[in-house]
Amino acid sequence: MVLTTIADSLSRTVESAGNTISETFFEPTLRLGVTGLSRAGKTVFITSLVANLMDRARMPGLVAQSEGRILTAFLQPQPDDTLPRFDYETHLAALTARTPHWPDSTRAVSELRLSLKVRPSGLLAGLQGPRTLHLDIVDYPGEWLLDLGLMEKSYAEWSDQMLTRMGHRPDPEGFVAMATTDAAEAKLDEPVAQRLARAYTAALHAARAEGFSDCSPGRFLLPGELEGSPVLTFAPLPPIKAARGTLYREFERRFDAYKSRVVKPFFQDHFSRLDRQIVLVDALGAIHAGPRAVEDLRQTLADILTAFRPGASSFLASLFLGRRIDKILFAATKADHLHHTQHAQLTAVMEALTRDARDRARFAGAETAAMSLAALRATTEEMIQHEGQALPCVRGTLLDSGKQAAFYPGALPEDPNHLLTAARQGADHWLDGDYSVMAFAPAALTLIPGEGPPHIRLDRAAQFLIGDRL
Ligand code: GDP
Repeated sequence: MVLTTIADSLSRTVESAGNTISETFFEPTLRLGVTGLSRAGKTVFITSLVANLMDRARMPGLVAQSEGRILTAFLQPQPDDTLPRFDYETHLAALTARTPHWPDSTRAVSELRLSLKVRPSGLLAGLQGPRTLHLDIVDYPGEWLLDLGLMEKSYAEWSDQMLTRMGHRPDPEGFVAMATTDAAEAKLDEPVAQRLARAYTAALHAARAEGFSDCSPGRFLLPGELEGSPVLTFAPLPPIKAARGTLYREFERRFDAYKSRVVKPFFQDHFSRLDRQIVLVDALGAIHAGPRAVEDLRQTLADILTAFRPGASSFLASLFLGRRIDKILFAATKADHLHHTQHAQLTAVMEALTRDARDRARFAGAETAAMSLAALRATTEEMIQHEGQALPCVRGTLLDSGKQAAFYPGALPEDPNHLLTAARQGADHWLDGDYSVMAFAPAALTLIPGEGPPHIRLDRAAQFLIGDRL
């Protein structure tokens, strides 16, 4: 047993050394992680990024493109045989259909390899022929990063934290009333265990729907192939000194199995191999949901982003072993819901939301930036006269009625702290104004050859994430 493990890890080391050599000298590979909480916009981002890297007329902000050095970009079989492929073609077909619709969202980890053939710049330009960069894009739910926080928590600590949070959250199936000390001390009964796990999962879904972000364990919301398995059949219980054979003991055991069999392999096999990362955040959605959702998002981002500081956790440090993610971009998505005169304010909110985490990431050596973008622009801008005032609006097709509407979402404050401070202080609603967000359908596209789908600042995001390697 021990021997196989050693042999396993030896062969993995040799294999990865081999990879590194061939990658460095022949065809370099860049692994780009795309993450964010559910509905942040990962699927739309990857689909539009790939389409716009293949047809680059709308990518002037990507320097290698403006210098005319990208010769071609094409999809290739991905390097990891056991990982699902990101379903690019289906997602693009949804967005570019005659009546376009939004594609299905990310539910698990997936991967896509895009290879770019590039002419070198500078001194080497005349000496070398074109070279190929393989961009491996890895899509994974941000909820899974929250699980990193579980690695260093005991079942009792996690239970205590979650039960406290449940105090001010929706509880549609009465989980809190079921999770009593009596239940914890009772003998394990599988139907009871399942009822508790189901009610807890329902509470997580309801919390998520109300805009709360910290809903751990991450796989309860996005279980993938693990749905219904014992490793997902547990819930927090009031911490007690439990005897053997009790529900508490069994839940404690399953919590530990979740950490070692679900969380650890994800970090080991996927996360620790990333070079670059984009974290997508639906900041507008949270602002629309109100101060509590903004504060919850801020705390959750802080939790998620500890994953980018290998030093913060001995578990992570052991996985990275000197490697690290060297660039991280924090992007507020769906910026097409706002007139461009408001984009700077949205970026400022994004910066403020991730300030602590960004300071720490910079300390750990990674370069970070914040921006607002729309991977797929679904609106046009318009000034509308209202009570003698010109209001900067956006116009689009409403998702539920299919009607065209112009819409003023409210003005974000110049100073993002007006929002964040109210949120931190536990305000129930915004004092200075209301911020609404409409759900727009993707606009019907007529693309001329060479053009990818319309976007806002996707080229600038690509420049930050991969520009230096082209
Ligand atoms: P995921 O869960 O992170 O994969 O999120 P998706 O990429 O599926 O996006 C969730 C939803 O957000 C989509 O169905 C759209 O309604 C909306 N959305 C995502 N990106 C954009 C964008 O660039 N513009 C607009 N207007 N809506 C977007």
